[in-house]
Amino acid sequence: MNVEEIFAQNVFTLGKMRERLPRTVYKEVIRVKEEGGELSKESADVVAKAMKDWAVERGATHYTHWFQPLTGITAEKHDSFVSHPDEEGKMIMEFSGKELIKGEPDASSFPSGGLRTTFEARGYTAWDITSPAFLKESATGVILCIPTAFCSYTGEALDKKTPLLRSMEVISEQALRIIRLFGNTEATKVYPSVGAEQEYFLIDRDLYLQRKDLIFAGRTLFGAPAPKGQEMEDHYFGVIRERIGAYMKDLNEELWKLGVTAKTQHNEVAPAQHELAPIYESANVAGDHNQLVMETMKRVAHRHGLTCLLHEKPFAGVNGSGKHDNWSLCTDNGVNLLDPGITPNENIQFLLVLACIMRAVDIHADLLRQSASDVGNDHRLGADEAPPAIISIFLGDQLEDVVSQLVTTGVATESKEGGKLMTGVSTLPDLDKDATDRNRTSPFAFTGNKFEFRMVGSADSITAANTTLNAIVAESFSEAADRLEGAEDFDIAVHDLIKEYMTKHQRVIFNGNGYSQEWVEEAEKRGLPNIRSMVESVATLTTEKSIRMFERFHIFTKAELESHAEILYETYAKSINIEALTMIYMANRQIIPAVVAYTRKLADAVIAVRTAGAGTKVHESLLQETTELLEEMQHALEILEKDEAKAADYTDNKEKAFYYKDVIRKDMEALRAPADRLEQIVDKKMWPFPTYADMLFEV
Ligand code: ADP
Ligand code: MG
Repeated sequence: MNVEEIFAQNVFTLGKMRERLPRTVYKEVIRVKEEGGELSKESADVVAKAMKDWAVERGATHYTHWFQPLTGITAEKHDSFVSHPDEEGKMIMEFSGKELIKGEPDASSFPSGGLRTTFEARGYTAWDITSPAFLKESATGVILCIPTAFCSYTGEALDKKTPLLRSMEVISEQALRIIRLFGNTEATKVYPSVGAEQEYFLIDRDLYLQRKDLIFAGRTLFGAPAPKGQEMEDHYFGVIRERIGAYMKDLNEELWKLGVTAKTQHNEVAPAQHELAPIYESANVAGDHNQLVMETMKRVAHRHGLTCLLHEKPFAGVNGSGKHDNWSLCTDNGVNLLDPGITPNENIQFLLVLACIMRAVDIHADLLRQSASDVGNDHRLGADEAPPAIISIFLGDQLEDVVSQLVTTGVATESKEGGKLMTGVSTLPDLDKDATDRNRTSPFAFTGNKFEFRMVGSADSITAANTTLNAIVAESFSEAADRLEGAEDFDIAVHDLIKEYMTKHQRVIFNGNGYSQEWVEEAEKRGLPNIRSMVESVATLTTEKSIRMFERFHIFTKAELESHAEILYETYAKSINIEALTMIYMANRQIIPAVVAYTRKLADAVIAVRTAGAGTKVHESLLQETTELLEEMQHALEILEKDEAKAADYTDNKEKAFYYKDVIRKDMEALRAPADRLEQIVDKKMWPFPTYADMLFEV
């Protein structure tokens, strides 16, 4: 395989546009891409034709406006290029500029949280010229996918991309104000750059198909621990098994063709868990690409007789999956605003940016936490394996020391140096040591020249997190620029401002063990919010503080925020409802019948053994234990069924969501406990579905 040759072969790149478009049209595309605005109708037609010709040459039959509705996954509705045949019956494939730029998919069944009622269900998709069109190859054939934004008739965003694009414009504008203060007159734009590390599980597809919980809920709702877990730490970075290796090879190839820079791959902590990371790029394209990564992971798995699980917690007691969202800010003339240099104490621009980020994360910790919540992530955050639900910033020794010098004395005169790492082996080179070690437990960690937001769930889109990050940091930049632009003595003013922000917001810095109970207590003393669940985080969207910030920058309107809150409550209730119904199904139709059959076998054995004249103590005690657990299970099942029936009485989405969290989830746990104990004593051959031991170790 020649990677250079296949890379982006399915992408309508700028290079391909340059080759295929007249110079003037190409220049217009570049201008709109860089500066905004619209293509003229004539140019749009030319671009559409070139795009279609390229796609058809590569076998495409259909095109689709590809968008990200608020469900968190992507949507597409295919239209073929087929047009009216002429009199002689000959058909010519067609695609106009109008079809490229705007679509009207109707799409009234996507959640809008009350933003549109079905009688005015019109939804529009609009071409996002900043993210390249690409070809998707699947069983449906080759489809030309055009990344689009999705809005209502009245212009409200019905998707995740529109607010992200708005937030990118805002942070660019505000960051430019900051760098202008330091004399950078060349940059015309500042981009948030993002690299998302994606964790996932692979299990055998035949086993997957025997588990209704995995099929309906994406996670196991029953299941006792396997005899072996992750305690030997032999999976992390372990040798990649042949079958998984073949999958990864195939996955990389598919992603490269799509222009996704799949870069690293390794086994993760849990058995059957892996990770893939691409190289960072502009936040918008990174968001689109992460969706493609997730989709391709699932699709390629089928070819290998595997199933890819993206749920945040597919297996209880085994590490779950997340997504590390690496974020930084880069100017279009190549400066990374988060690069501290060798002596950060002298890098005033960096220190100001850092101070603004500290301020943003402290003031809007609640929103940042919310941006990473989804139903599955409730099993991770704060559960001793992922970052806690408390937002804090890890800076590392060097920067923490600079911040503390600034806060205590008002000046930072020195930066701790990394120095040399002595290997002690004469044939090995001594390595330059980073000035900062890593902290795996922090939700928001500075890692050299970027922040790594580690809270996002593996199945979630990264778009909400990046929209929030851009917005809150833009707000602090804007505050800072307001103060500094008018300052009489800039050097003194910037120095004072950095000190002020750092002093005021240093409570958000934490370099210790984020998994410890002491931190939970300490954070409470510092007044940092600890929002324990997704449903509790929803209200942060519609606080006065949040509405003021998002409306000020035209990222979300109050109506959009309120609609998101509705959708989130509804999504939560629906998801837990599916889980509860799946448990009821599995308990009634699979587990209980299997246990009944097993007790029958034990009872028969008791009689037979007694008749044969031998002792039945073991048989009887097994029968007794099994029957007791069966009774406990039946009892818990009845409670869950009764409470499930009551859920229908709730009409308010918020109340319903809380009911599912506080009542139904507890009922589910009560049902699971005896079932998992039964799994450990019932004859393996009689257990109705594959166990953790089967699924996690037999890939
Ligand atoms: P680790 O697991 O050690 O954090 P990885 O290599 O798995 O490292 O992932 C790091 C991610 O951060 C990659 O996607 C990488 O491209 C991305 N990254 C590196 N520099 C930046 C930057 N300046 N801005 C955003 N992302 C970055
Ligand atoms: Mg990382």
